[in-house]
Amino acid sequence: MMSTESTFDKLLFTPGPLTTSKTVKQAMLRDLGSRDEVFIELLREVRNELVALGGVSGENFTAVLMQGSGTFSLEAVLSSTVPPDGKVLIAVNGAYGRRLVLLAETLGIETATLEFPENMPVDPAAVAQALADDPTITHVSICHCETTSGVMNPIEMVGEVVQDAGKRYFVDAMSSFGAVPLNLEEAKIDYLVSSANKCIEGVPGFAFVLARREALEETAGWARSVSLDLLSQVRGLEKNGQFRFTPPTHAILAFRQAIRELHEEGGVEGRGRRYAENHCVLTEGMAKLGFRPYVAPNDQGYIITSFHYPDDPNFDFEAFYGQLSDRGFVIYPGKVGDADCFRIGTIGRLFPNDVRNLLIAVTETLEALDINISA
Ligand SMILES: *Cc1c(COP(=O)(O)O)cnc(C)c1O
Repeated sequence: MMSTESTFDKLLFTPGPLTTSKTVKQAMLRDLGSRDEVFIELLREVRNELVALGGVSGENFTAVLMQGSGTFSLEAVLSSTVPPDGKVLIAVNGAYGRRLVLLAETLGIETATLEFPENMPVDPAAVAQALADDPTITHVSICHCETTSGVMNPIEMVGEVVQDAGKRYFVDAMSSFGAVPLNLEEAKIDYLVSSANKCIEGVPGFAFVLARREALEETAGWARSVSLDLLSQVRGLEKNGQFRFTPPTHAILAFRQAIRELHEEGGVEGRGRRYAENHCVLTEGMAKLGFRPYVAPNDQGYIITSFHYPDDPNFDFEAFYGQLSDRGFVIYPGKVGDADCFRIGTIGRLFPNDVRNLLIAVTETLEALDINISA
């Protein structure tokens, strides 16, 4: 009898979870106790590596690991670092920006939102104007790569504006950290969040916050949650090298291996080069097939790309998705604004040859479904 569970996993061209290397998965074949020296040393190494990946020193910044998916760490920052009478300005140009608004509003935090079209980057001048108009704003929050469309936001320029206004700056760099060169000090970032299973290519299970010590230290007493209390989490980690609650030991073992593989690839620059090549092969191939990208090339990052549905009435996303999935390639739906689009991610353990194979599968799928794109 055929098992429904194949040993060959499909390749994940998605915003996550993402394809990981075999060696990253193999690193999990251990059981570590949370108070074990080996685990405490592992945690120390991983936290130091994260601060270094942010281009900063451990003197001014600290890395806080937090159980859960990326959103849990976003919620940890919002719930822990905004004072009771604080107000967060959130720049929104996609679903992940809207999620920040939802998190803040659910926490009862006062918010101001600044909205932009989903195929356009956030405009730093508009952020400056909003800050000038409302002096009660204490924090500014923005996504780096808006994974909804793949558009890149100018977080360094926004950082200048935020610093000039003397506000705290929180960046959701979930889908870019580790593959897009960034220096937190130069970008004036106080808090940055990313997760284990995006560009660093670990397995899902935890995310992390890079926090400016001086900012975090002033947040005592502000936490609106026990399990997501950022300051308590970091104090626990720094006091005895331990998590307050059960740590994701296997996912952290995998993460250390993933960081080693990141270094072997040439660090953030090297990883960025592979993803940029993946993206280049993808967009050239899709253009040849007649697909139109949703974001203009100048505003588009190499993380994930949205394509308009083709005009042909034979196109049905579910059928298109199913055919590609049967061929071993998983893509992602993605309605952006009022445009019907689908998304193809180019991050995770994927190489230009995988993208070429995906393009062959797309070509076969168009034939199989009798879809003709008039370019
Ligand atoms: C993936 C992602 C998230 C978080 O996702 P989780 O499903 O909670 O891991 C948040 N913001 C952005 C920009 C992302 O790409």
